[in-house]
Amino acid sequence: MDFAFTDEQLAYRKSVIQFAQKELNHDVIGADLAEEFSWEGWKKCAAFGIHGLPIPEEYGGSGADIVTTLAGMEALGYGCHDNGLIFSINAHMWTSEIPLLMFGTDEQKKKYLPKLVSGEMVGAHAITEPMSGSDAYSLRTRAERRGDGYVLNGSKTFITNADNADLMIVFANVDPARGPAGITGFLVEKGTPGLVVSRKLQKMGLRTSPTCEVTVTDCTVPAANILGKEGSGPAIFTASMEWERICIMGGKIGAMQRLLEMSVKYAGERRQFGEPIGKFSAVSDRIAEMDVRLEAGRLLLYKAAWLKKSGRHPIREAAIAKLFVSEAYVQSCLDAVKVYGGYGYMTEYQIERELRDAVAGTIYSGTSDIQRKIIAGFHGL
Ligand SMILES: Cc1cc2nc3c(=O)[nH]c(=O)nc-3n(C[C@H](O)[C@H](O)[C@H](O)COP(=O)(O)OP(=O)(O)OC[C@H]3O[C@@H](n4cnc5c(N)ncnc54)[C@H](O)[C@@H]3O)c2cc1C
Repeated sequence: MDFAFTDEQLAYRKSVIQFAQKELNHDVIGADLAEEFSWEGWKKCAAFGIHGLPIPEEYGGSGADIVTTLAGMEALGYGCHDNGLIFSINAHMWTSEIPLLMFGTDEQKKKYLPKLVSGEMVGAHAITEPMSGSDAYSLRTRAERRGDGYVLNGSKTFITNADNADLMIVFANVDPARGPAGITGFLVEKGTPGLVVSRKLQKMGLRTSPTCEVTVTDCTVPAANILGKEGSGPAIFTASMEWERICIMGGKIGAMQRLLEMSVKYAGERRQFGEPIGKFSAVSDRIAEMDVRLEAGRLLLYKAAWLKKSGRHPIREAAIAKLFVSEAYVQSCLDAVKVYGGYGYMTEYQIERELRDAVAGTIYSGTSDIQRKIIAGFHGL
């Protein structure tokens, strides 16, 4: 067993941290208040190679394995304080690029992947609907075969990147009688008649990442734009979630490391009753708990990534890691607020935003309850 990163991975992590700290933290407080997506940050990350990390070189990516990719995402989460920007990049990578890479035809991959990798195109993934969230496969959007195309009708909600998206993977059922076996992913390009991004939603955290409602009304998509084949929807969704649940949490581990370091520093500098507050066990215990969560979460995530790199499908391990890290991140944000006292509650110290951003992690990519359901399923329950 070897827990060490290679020299190349260490050097890469360092370069991502330096890049992120230097380039991505301009007025994050203001952007959060204004709910502003950072196009500048998006382009810089794409140019640095983040968007194409795990994508093969023939499509403009770096072809990094999942462990190296995770190390890069962790470093990004450590260096970049704009969690919304990181979230949008993650949605683009794991639920647009990866499904295309795994299920796309050569033609589809050549057409879209290089532009997604370069950041010229933004990807989105639309499965959730007003009446189907956790029970994603009960979706009501229909795709009816007509001539050499499909006509899509339905509505989607909570779609990340939708108002910026050039390419959206829209899930619809071609034959409700077949249940989940009828669910199919369609590549729908921006500007396709009938595709409407209807409303941008205001939210608690990740406010720099746009989240929107989307409708498709008599939206005709050529048959060539099916991803995989009719009925591939559940396989596409499962593959995306396996990548996403591991890699999206990498940024959270980076953020937890940052919070821990900030809290240690603050506990050493802030004095009350004539002593640094870190001398009070109530404060140092909190910091110790933050460290335990960080260490355990990191091990769970890299174990899941290592299993995937070894050719296995770590569905259980990814669910365990996602559940643990997302909940641990919220708890560590709460602990950091407590270490900072009243200052932790104030916007300028940037911990209250971190807490608001953290809560979303217990909902997207399957709620914590759904991760527990998946894990229990491996025990026949
Ligand atoms: C910031 C953000 C970004 C998102 N981005 C996207 C996106 O890009 N594309 C997309 O398609 N979707 C996206 N989503 C949607 C997300 O996947 C869903 O919100 C999530 O799956 C939960 O669905 P729901 O909100 O309808 O809640 P519901 O499924 O209605 O759940 C409500 C509550 O019931 C619980 N519950 C439901 N079923 C069970 C069960 N069987 N056992 C135990 N508890 C259960 C849930 O855990 C939750 O506590 C995003 C969500 C957020 C918050």
